Amino acid sequence: MSQVLIAGAGPTGLTAAISLARTGCSVRIVDAAERPFNGSRGDGLQPRTLEVFDDLGVAPRVLAEGGPPLPTRVYLGGVLTGEQELFPMREPTAALPYPTGWFCPQFHTELILRERLAEFGVRVEFGTALTEFSQSPHGVSAVLVHSGQCEEFEADYLIGADGGRSVVRKQLGIGFAGTTREDFRMLLGDVRAEGLDRSAAYWFAPSEDPMGGVALTPLPGTELFQFGAPLDRQVDEPGLEQLREALAAAGGTAELSGLTWSTVWRPNIRMAERFRDGRVFLAGDAAHVHPPTGGQGLNTGVQDGYNLGWKLAAVLSGADPVLLDSYEAERLPIARQVLELSTGIMAKYENGEDDALERGEDVQQLGLDYRDSVLSVQHGVPLGELRGGDRAPDGLLVTKHGERLFDALRGPHPLVLGFGVEVDTLGEHAYRVDGELPHYAAQHGAVLVVRPDGYLGYVGTSADEAGKYLRWIAPNS
Ligand SMILES: Cc1cc2nc3c(=O)[nH]c(=O)nc-3n(C[C@H](O)[C@H](O)[C@H](O)COP(=O)(O)OP(=O)(O)OC[C@H]3O[C@@H](n4cnc5c(N)ncnc54)[C@H](O)[C@@H]3O)c2cc1C
Repeated sequence: MSQVLIAGAGPTGLTAAISLARTGCSVRIVDAAERPFNGSRGDGLQPRTLEVFDDLGVAPRVLAEGGPPLPTRVYLGGVLTGEQELFPMREPTAALPYPTGWFCPQFHTELILRERLAEFGVRVEFGTALTEFSQSPHGVSAVLVHSGQCEEFEADYLIGADGGRSVVRKQLGIGFAGTTREDFRMLLGDVRAEGLDRSAAYWFAPSEDPMGGVALTPLPGTELFQFGAPLDRQVDEPGLEQLREALAAAGGTAELSGLTWSTVWRPNIRMAERFRDGRVFLAGDAAHVHPPTGGQGLNTGVQDGYNLGWKLAAVLSGADPVLLDSYEAERLPIARQVLELSTGIMAKYENGEDDALERGEDVQQLGLDYRDSVLSVQHGVPLGELRGGDRAPDGLLVTKHGERLFDALRGPHPLVLGFGVEVDTLGEHAYRVDGELPHYAAQHGAVLVVRPDGYLGYVGTSADEAGKYLRWIAPNS
């Protein structure tokens, strides 16, 4: 018996597992695959994901072992025509320590998350598939199959983080509305590319079709490049030959070898009608699948797992179960927004628009908010433009945990700040702030509670009200 069973150890399940395990919850995480996934797939980590990783204690490793966005060298008809910065490069500020996305192959991000999870004593059980389950008002009973053996397992809650073909979603009978397109295919793979230096990404395209090209992007920490190209015919098992043909047709001259992963991708753009059924939750690709344009899929799954993890942990230790209702209420509208964004970028790509490869700030996930959530409590406007439900910006804030607000927030607890007001009765993570905290524009007397996932919860002027809020969302803090 565990408090939470997680089906699926991709980025979503791993994020939820770390969020739970670090609070002391008992978690079991199983994955049907015999071994970890080896493709680079979601290699673009958005700035908001880096903030989540900072809180979960994996950002230093992801930064050290991944790499920054690189300029893209554009070749048309085999001739270098220029170099483009496709990602907005910004300098870090006190409020925004990770202003630019970072690249890390998905298999490596997953490895880092698995190793972090192991530090809390939880190991992913590969080769273990959830095949069916039932639930009662008291818990979930699941059947797990490993090495041909069936095991019955009881848990208080189940998270279905089992990907786009989710068994959990299907068994709940939750619709997955959207489209699967047969008229659009991409050939993707991880491959060596002799003759290309690794200080840039590459775009090779015929002069007459500048958007119909092949992208080759170095994968940090490996000798591989991620290969992506449109595919105009049916290929069942893409191999090196198909990649070489596509590159030659685009005028690329690199020598490809050592293919470690490849797939043919078709747009599958769908969203679950609900993200929850009683004690069972859907998260990540199990709840929404995106085109890879805009690099949103993995990042949105990480945010789902992070949003759900602390709420389940809080409810398991006595918090108001309404927290669990807020998961779908907060994440479903965001999934819809993100789906529209990535589909819009894909349409630009298909239409051959000049800026189709450029990425703006809208992909960074920093501006997403939960203002309409029941957990966002706003009394007055003591923080200027910041509202309950907004991302809490970082800032210089000296506490026993470090010199930044994010240092004080790191961990599973909420954070309380009183601007010129004593709040020390509100626990060990409550601080009086004298002086300015830039980006908060706080009036004297403002009190705020930052949720464990870094969003403003209570925003007001009463330490008593902040205390009530705190007992509501985190009775043990
Ligand atoms: C070709 C491609 C390119 C992509 N590029 C990007 C990108 O650039 N940026 C980005 O953000 N995203 C990208 N994505 C999307 C990203 O890879 C996914 O959104 C991400 O992997 C979702 O994570 P997840 O944990 O929700 O699901 P998954 O990574 O799919 O993990 C689900 C896990 O569940 C396991 N599982 C399945 N069924 C069961 C079961 N019954 N019991 C137990 N375990 C089970 C599977 O083995 C798997 O390990 C891309 C996806 C593809 C396919």
